[in-house]
Amino acid sequence: MTRIKRVAVIGAGTMGRQISLQIALRGFGVVLYDIDPDALTAAENMQRETAADWIAAGQVSEGSQKRIFANLRYSADLPSACRDVDLAIEAVPESADLKRAVFAQLDRLLPPAAIIASNSSSIRISMLEDATERPERVANLHFYLPVWDSPMVEVGGGSCTQPQVLDALSDFARAIGILPLRVRRESTGFVFNRVWRAVKKEVMRVADSGVASIEDIDRAWMIKFGREKPPPFAQMDRIGLDVIRDIELHYAAESGDPADMPPPLLTDRVERGELGVKSGRGFYQYPDPAWQRDDFLDPDRGAQSNRINLF
Ligand code: NAD
Repeated sequence: MTRIKRVAVIGAGTMGRQISLQIALRGFGVVLYDIDPDALTAAENMQRETAADWIAAGQVSEGSQKRIFANLRYSADLPSACRDVDLAIEAVPESADLKRAVFAQLDRLLPPAAIIASNSSSIRISMLEDATERPERVANLHFYLPVWDSPMVEVGGGSCTQPQVLDALSDFARAIGILPLRVRRESTGFVFNRVWRAVKKEVMRVADSGVASIEDIDRAWMIKFGREKPPPFAQMDRIGLDVIRDIELHYAAESGDPADMPPPLLTDRVERGELGVKSGRGFYQYPDPAWQRDDFLDPDRGAQSNRINLF
């Protein structure tokens, strides 16, 4: 069976920087590549800040921090990034055409035995596999954000992915501390993204049709499911509203159903450049978004409201 030791992560955006840091944390050599050198600088800054937070929280030692960054390399040169790699994880924006172009490039540059995996949120690997000459060695490998709070990854093959490839990816996921979930049959959105898609689509419809405010929908969610994790609109802000829009467009293109098109509530914000946490504004404003404030659950009752007491 293939053993994965060295990895290239292609795309240093929201996901690529987290995935590569997790891989380095668990002791594997990883090179992070991006077409945009500024994205690499931003990725390294974010990774160093994250590692500093881990040290401050006592989760890793200063010695471990040195080891993490000794495992990480940054590259804006694709041939050098692909050298001697066993696995390339593609994390470029959610467009099948772009991903196909990247897959074709990777296929030309990677060692013949290397696996090519896509972190796509919705695109089935069978839509990408024939961009390569190695369709039996490509797969979906879909991580969740934030990687450290949602340590699971969906592993799924296309029309002819070898079972050993899926086994190697599952073993690798375990080795980097992430639970592999096997996707038994190809399905747009895989496992949890199908569930999450139903949630985000419905909350946007409720708000877009004027039934309730974004804040009240998120309040209801927090009261029902807990106050520690971001509720749906806050979670979309974390993911990036442009990323959400692209995923919804992919679902709509596949179904051909106009009801699947992303609503103006989302597209208007993306057009204004309001992309969520990364741009400082989305459904909420950052830093210090309203949903994290002490009085969010019931502004009329002030700071007491986050400790609802019915008696
Ligand atoms: P992002 O926009 O934050 O980052 C994408 C990066 O890819 C950018 O840095 C960009 O410069 C780079 N890029 C563009 N074209 C490239 C090319 N040809 N070669 C190399 N790099 C290129 O996007 P993201 O949020 O990291 O999402 C990446 C993928 O991961 C998408 O398929 C998305 O659906 C998926 N995903 C996203 C999330 C999330 O929460 N954001 C979660 C799971 C999966």
